[in-house]
Parts: sequence; C-alpha cells; structure tokens
Amino acid sequence: MKFGIDAGGTLIKIVKEENNERSYMKYLSTEIEKVAAMLESYPEASVALTGGKATYLQSLIPQEAFQSIEFDATFKGIQTFLQQHDHPLENYIFANVGTGTSIHYVDGEQQVRAGGTGAGGGMIQGLGYLLTGESDYSRLTALAAQGDRDEIDLKVKHIYKGDKTPIPGELTAANFGRVLHTKDTVTYTDADKLAAAIGVVGETVTTVSIHAAREFNAEYVVYIGSSFLDNELLEKVVMNYTVLRGFKPYFIENGEYSGALGTLKLM
Ligand code: ATP
Ligand code: MG
Repeated sequence: MKFGIDAGGTLIKIVKEENNERSYMKYLSTEIEKVAAMLESYPEASVALTGGKATYLQSLIPQEAFQSIEFDATFKGIQTFLQQHDHPLENYIFANVGTGTSIHYVDGEQQVRAGGTGAGGGMIQGLGYLLTGESDYSRLTALAAQGDRDEIDLKVKHIYKGDKTPIPGELTAANFGRVLHTKDTVTYTDADKLAAAIGVVGETVTTVSIHAAREFNAEYVVYIGSSFLDNELLEKVVMNYTVLRGFKPYFIENGEYSGALGTLKLM
C-alpha cells in the first residue's frame, strides 16, 4: 500500500494506492494528528510527502517517508492526470490556487515557477469572514453562489457610459469600485459581498496567470487547487475571464490532489 500526501496550509490531501486502485481523502491541516494516527495503523505502507507541512508530518509518523519539492510533485501529478484524462499538453501554464496561488510554466519535461499572488482560497475565506462573519467553508460558498456583484464592481462600460471602449466593456475596471456610486440606492447582501470577494480573487488569479501565459507563449492555462471545490462561482469567473482574455482554461478533475499523486509517483 502506498500513500501520497500533500500537507498544505489549509488542507491535507491524501492519495492511497493499493492493488492499482486509487482513493482520495482530505483532512483540515489542523487535523494533522488524525492523519498521523491513520498512518500509524499502516506501519508497512510506503509514504511519500510534499507540501509546507510535510516535515512536521514526518516528525509525527513511524514510516521513513520519501519527500519531494511541492512544485515538482504538483507538476508530476498534473502530467499523470492529463495523460489519464487523454488530454496531453506540451507547453502550458498551471496555476495552483491553494491557500495562496502559485503559477508555473511547463515546457515539455519541466516546470519553472512563473509567479504567484496572495489572492487565493485563503483570501476568499479571510475576506469572506471579515465581510460577513461566516467562517464555515460550505456555508460561505453556498451563500456566495446566490450573490450578484453587478452593483459592487465597476466595469469598463460603466466608465465609458455607452461611448466606444478601447478594451472590452465587460472587463472589470475596479473590483468593488462601484460601491460609492450605488450605495444610496442599493442594499448589498452578504451573498453579494462574497460574490465580489470571489470575483476579485478569480480575476487576480486569472490576470497573473494569463500574463505568464503571454510571457511564455502558452495557449492553455491549467487551474488546480481545492479553492475550486464547492465553488462553482470561482470556477466560472476564472473560466470566463481566461476566455475573455484570449486563452484556453482547463480544469482537471481531482486536480487538487496533483501534489499528493505527484509525490507518490516520484517515490
Ligand atoms: P498551500 O498550497 O497554499 O499551502 P493548500 O495546499 O492547503 O495551501 P488547497 O488545499 O489547494 O491549499 O486549497 C485551500 C483552499 O481550498 C481553502 O483556502 C478554501 O478556499 C478551499 N477549501 C475547499 N474545501 C475546503 C474545506 N473543506 N475547508 C476549508 N477550505 C476548503
Ligand atoms: Mg497546496
């Protein structure tokens, strides 16, 4: 039995392989002792770790685990998924939207880090809490799904007011920039505020990613990370914004397990 484990800032992703069967599990990073207890019950298992909390997890478990660098593990996992999903790509950007966002360029056989941004899943949770007081992830994303950010965000077309725009009018000119124009006539619900928070995160992640795609001459941007789980709105923002900016988005099923699968495959 083999375990590949990506212990990240917010979630611990686990891939278990046994007799060619793969299963996926996740725990909160605050539950790392539970993961250690689970591993203790499989003393004969091979364990491969990656992620920011890998070394700490190693200190809690009996197995002498293999460890790989998070970026290489994630790349290996993505390549494995792309092959299995019959969607091979040669040159592409991948954006790992985790607690924070890390962006990489893949040139056939290797990845290089192309940038990153502090806008990511952690910002959705933190800013979401500040705006609404909601700290439960599934309630937060369910609420956001009902929101509307039209009265909160300022679009290019709002500034040009019917005049011909030099760039697409649907592009956001200023996230949250419409608030002072609409505040006297509109009541913003918690759902609207959360939709706007997800909007700024999605658009920032996309902007940084497509700048990398342009710099490296890549057509596709592959998006992974648990931030897309239960958060169709984020996926929609990122997908539409990538297309609007002229690139091809690709979302991998189970992509949030790329690091966990990759470190297992590198072992
Ligand atoms: P990093 O790679 O930056 O160290 P990570 O690997 O822990 O962090 P991911 O697991 O890819 O990051 O994504 C974390 C994000 O996923 C959270 O910030 C949150 O937006 C989202 N998320 C999805 N499901 C949950 C959940 N059940 N509980 C908390 N956050 C969740
Ligand atoms: Mg991660």
